[in-house]
Amino acid sequence: MGIAVSPQIHPQVADFIDKPRKMLINGQWVNSISGKTFPTYNPATGEVLAQVAEGDSADIDLAVKAARKAFDQGPWRKLTVSERGRLIWKLADLLEQHTEEFAYIESLDNGKALTIARAADVPLAVDLFRYMAGWATKIEGNTIPISVPYTPGAKYLAYTLREPIGVVGQIIPWNFPLLMAAWKLGPALATGCTVVLKPAEQTPLSSLRLGELITEAGFPDGVVNIVPGYGETAGAALAAHPDVDKIAFTGSTEVGKLIVHAAAGNLKKVTLELGGKSPNVVYKDADLDTAIPGAASAIFFNHGQCCCAGSRLYVEKSVFDKVVEGIAEEAKKINVGSGLDPQTEMGPLVSEEQLRRVCGYLESGFSEGAKAIVGGHRKGDKGYFVEPTVLVNTNEDMKVVREEIFGPVVTAMPFTDPEEILPRANNSEYGLAAAVWTKDISKAHRTAEILRAGTVWINCYNIFDAALPFGGYKQSGWGREMGHEVLNNYTQTKAVCTKVA
Ligand code: ADP
Repeated sequence: MGIAVSPQIHPQVADFIDKPRKMLINGQWVNSISGKTFPTYNPATGEVLAQVAEGDSADIDLAVKAARKAFDQGPWRKLTVSERGRLIWKLADLLEQHTEEFAYIESLDNGKALTIARAADVPLAVDLFRYMAGWATKIEGNTIPISVPYTPGAKYLAYTLREPIGVVGQIIPWNFPLLMAAWKLGPALATGCTVVLKPAEQTPLSSLRLGELITEAGFPDGVVNIVPGYGETAGAALAAHPDVDKIAFTGSTEVGKLIVHAAAGNLKKVTLELGGKSPNVVYKDADLDTAIPGAASAIFFNHGQCCCAGSRLYVEKSVFDKVVEGIAEEAKKINVGSGLDPQTEMGPLVSEEQLRRVCGYLESGFSEGAKAIVGGHRKGDKGYFVEPTVLVNTNEDMKVVREEIFGPVVTAMPFTDPEEILPRANNSEYGLAAAVWTKDISKAHRTAEILRAGTVWINCYNIFDAALPFGGYKQSGWGREMGHEVLNNYTQTKAVCTKVA
């Protein structure tokens, strides 16, 4: 099948990418101080899509100053919590009204299928903002009865305040550019923080368009600043900045460790949502009619470019061939093409670097004895397409089984003993997600308890909701995104104690 690269671009998006995009600092759209720009590419063609202002440490510094001023002196802190919530709600409404435009931007910049961006990425971001808007009015402290044995007879009124942590640096990846911006901005804004957001250099466009909506919604100047640029320059400067109170990062475990080092200078708070190599366990008593497409979608959704992709598939031996062949059939049916083509179900990988990385893993797998029962190669010679791939003859000593590939490649392994499989599933430095497929409800919940992962899906995969916390065990991260748990990462507790008698 050839790869169709449709030239149809949403007219507003065509206008948006026509001019070099500026950065948002203190409510103004400005060029970088150095005057430099960098290109962002259309991964379906490898051609330059747009030029974007290239922020570095000088721009980060300006943005942090703006965020600091907005936090310490601006109108933001004086807004009532209800006003704050309504602003976030308004942003959600604006985003929803521009769904089509954002779906196009995501598809062009990231490569993902327009149909998926329209059905998943944008609505999930809208929903996240609405969910967080509701929290703005519900962040409460406690009153605490205290005894104080060394002041007999004295009476105190003691309570806690949950206050925003302050200026937050947020560094996001390229796999769900808009949604990751929403996951980060939503709780920061709900809790009353101010933000410097650095989108990934591969996919800055949706964050910049979101910045325009943030201004239109009426957020005061400096509350959200958006500085596109490279990780080693803009990202590193943000992580190390002495006036940033917290850094929230989503990306690779390797860079997560750099962030921790950079943050040590002023001991800023750190939350990390990192890599994964998630086990997906199919027992022989599973409903295979749902487990097979479920396991296929676990790895192929978003081209496998999900930190929680179900990339290590363990199938009970008696159903192994059936399940693996079923997944291979699903893989063959996937329409791979330009994200803008309405028939496309899987677009290109995000970048040439990612294409090389995934192809490198495939070669490594083959050299260690793995066999592809479907896929296994780059697709076409234009753009960054890779065939959906199922590898068998794999084992836990292989690089393809141990390391995160971040592409549409699943390694399938049989198991005989239902007890033996769980230590194998847990045998990873990662612990982001896991799944189990079985009709036995007791076995499902016992397995969920044993699996060392921040999310366990039972008879489903890739189910996300703004109310469900998401984050990693082990080297998959610190802290949680979404749910009310994320609010703890953006607030700090102040104990107030009054002597009343
Ligand atoms: P990937 O390897 O999947 O591209 P990264 O972890 O490299 O993921 O990138 C995720 C985000 O981290 C991007 O916004 C990137 O620019 C940023 N980044 C990369 N290196 C650094 C760094 N040394 N310091 C801070 N941010 C970085």
